[in-house]
Amino acid sequence: MATSENKMKSATRPGNVKYKPEIDVEKCMGCGLCMDSCESHAVKGCLILKNGNMCVIDEASCLAAQPRCEYRCEQLCPNRAFKLKKV
Ligand code: SF4
Ligand code: SF4
Repeated sequence: MATSENKMKSATRPGNVKYKPEIDVEKCMGCGLCMDSCESHAVKGCLILKNGNMCVIDEASCLAAQPRCEYRCEQLCPNRAFKLKKV
């Protein structure tokens, strides 16, 4: 049976392409799963639950510009509110 762990994409993205996540505020339902899944959030607080119902990203704290981020925020968002844009 597939688990959320083995459904995840590789942490290694091709080449040196870097991504910046953006949250579609229309799709975000404020579940907070992205905050729980983000490897740097506990330290840097890169995701902020705004008004208790919508997540926003503090880009200065987000590790998306670094290759070691696994983009779990995007992969585990149940409502596909995350979009990864190349930077
Ligand atoms: S996981 Fe998705 S729907 Fe849930 S708070 Fe984060 S962006 Fe919003
Ligand atoms: S891109 Fe990485 S560091 Fe940034 S919010 Fe998502 S999981 Fe956290």
